[in-house]
Amino acid sequence: MIKTADAVVIGGGIIGCSTAYNLAKMGLKKVVLIEEKYIASGATGRCGAGMRMQWGTEPNAVLARDSVAMYETLEEELEYDDSIELKQEGYLLLAYNEKMVEQFHKNLGLQHKLGIPSRWVTPEEIKELVPHINLQGLHGATFCPKDGHCNPFKATDAYAQAAKRLGVEILTYTRVTKLLKEGDKISGVETTKGTILSPLVISCAGAYTRELGRMVGVELPIYPERHQILVTEPVEKLQGPMVMSFYHGIYCQQVPHGGFIMGLGDPNEVKDYNIKSSWQFMHEMAAKITFILPILKNLRVVRQWSGLYDLTPDKTQILGAIPEVPGFFVAAGFSGRGFMIAPVVGKLMAEVMLGQEPEYPIDMYGVKRFESGQLYVEPSVV
Ligand SMILES: Cc1cc2nc3c(=O)[nH]c(=O)nc-3n(C[C@H](O)[C@H](O)[C@H](O)COP(=O)(O)OP(=O)(O)OC[C@H]3O[C@@H](n4cnc5c(N)ncnc54)[C@H](O)[C@@H]3O)c2cc1C
Repeated sequence: MIKTADAVVIGGGIIGCSTAYNLAKMGLKKVVLIEEKYIASGATGRCGAGMRMQWGTEPNAVLARDSVAMYETLEEELEYDDSIELKQEGYLLLAYNEKMVEQFHKNLGLQHKLGIPSRWVTPEEIKELVPHINLQGLHGATFCPKDGHCNPFKATDAYAQAAKRLGVEILTYTRVTKLLKEGDKISGVETTKGTILSPLVISCAGAYTRELGRMVGVELPIYPERHQILVTEPVEKLQGPMVMSFYHGIYCQQVPHGGFIMGLGDPNEVKDYNIKSSWQFMHEMAAKITFILPILKNLRVVRQWSGLYDLTPDKTQILGAIPEVPGFFVAAGFSGRGFMIAPVVGKLMAEVMLGQEPEYPIDMYGVKRFESGQLYVEPSVV
């Protein structure tokens, strides 16, 4: 069966759902969102769902700053009758050597210019924020009280429900198998459940966006990389802030139900689609976290899992039109921060797709930067 749509959104993660919602909100009548599995089955439902404004490049800091503000009122905006479990008790970014101290002060300079309420904290002040932390080797940290996290399933559900109410058709368990072109232009998609003709198609397919690009002969510099994560049994409240160490490549937060969620980035991870869990992760995670937060040493692990980062060479997302294929757009390559910037990204992508002037300059996120060499290399990534 052949259907038609005004726009097709590929991917039912937080980015796809936010984009579909915004397209419908801006007046597009027939928006179809296609998801291979279920809503939030990709990186979104597997992520730490942390949100921090403490970034080292202006594009990332601005998108995060404004998205956090949008998350604060998301339930009202989307008329969600549940809670997205937003918790804002700050992120503590730990500095273990002089090089980090220097980089963090540079980041603070940028963040303050952008009105982000982050600050330098001494080891004594760190202890006040997280009394059970081991100060060994710590030179200090930066802290932003507005940083935090929320429940990724609920936030995505909030967007999906609001999109549906505005008329978006959401097709789950449906895979896009081919992108269709008429001449150079995009003309629709072929799926496991039929063809949908549409002059506008956006890939919000996370790490799989590279494969979708290849369907129209475009090689997008997006690389999948497994990131592993675990959750412990719930306990009484011990920790307000998220604790993050770039030195150890780890992050750890206590979520409202009492469990600790923690993960690490392994620089030697093979760039492929493997999302199996490994015992080596558990071993390394346990060693690193009990060094930094020894109080956690007797906590039992309830579950471990993994998901894919969609990395780009400069660890900054690719947003916008793909010039070789008019009508085809991409929002991917989030390099571990797509959840926290989804509210602004969805709005920006809808504006760009509808030919409106985007609220923020978007050219800097374009795929052409990899040819021109004008990169935004993000220094603060786990
Ligand atoms: C372990 C881990 C921890 C993370 N922690 C954080 C964090 O604390 N904060 C943060 O901001 N970000 C974090 N991230 C990154 C964040 O999860 C992602 O950037 C964000 O969820 C991206 O959402 P998305 O919608 O682009 O992609 P996804 O959620 O991956 O959604 C893409 C969807 O596209 C679907 N799809 C793919 N191909 C097709 C096809 N051909 N047809 C139909 N559907 C298709 C997939 O099934 C998938 O559901 C983390 C990621 C991981 C893996």
